[in-house]
Amino acid sequence: MDCRTGCGACCIAPAIVMPYHGMPAGKPAGVRCVHLQVDYACAIFDTPLRPAVCADFLAEPAICGNNAQEAMQILTQLEASSAPAPGLRESCSND
Ligand code: SF4
Ligand code: SF4
Repeated sequence: MDCRTGCGACCIAPAIVMPYHGMPAGKPAGVRCVHLQVDYACAIFDTPLRPAVCADFLAEPAICGNNAQEAMQILTQLEASSAPAPGLRESCSND
């Protein structure tokens, strides 16, 4: 499917764990990316500053739902179910 204009759910709901331009600590889940504009377009879409993880994320009905609200709900649930337990997160950071 084509990405839905004016959605932006995948720029808010998921965490981006790696540091990237404008967000040196990465992006926590549920936090709006600093590059998401008021019209929900990405300000760095066509630049090398856009994280690879964003470019790799492709719109698909199972993730994006039928509207932005559904996409937010689905992505928030996926994020919660895939987040490592606090203990695991600590042990990973000590690697
Ligand atoms: S959640 Fe899907 S439709 Fe919405 S902005 Fe992301 S890729 Fe596009
Ligand atoms: S860099 Fe662009 S595509 Fe990636 S999360 Fe931010 S606004 Fe979305």
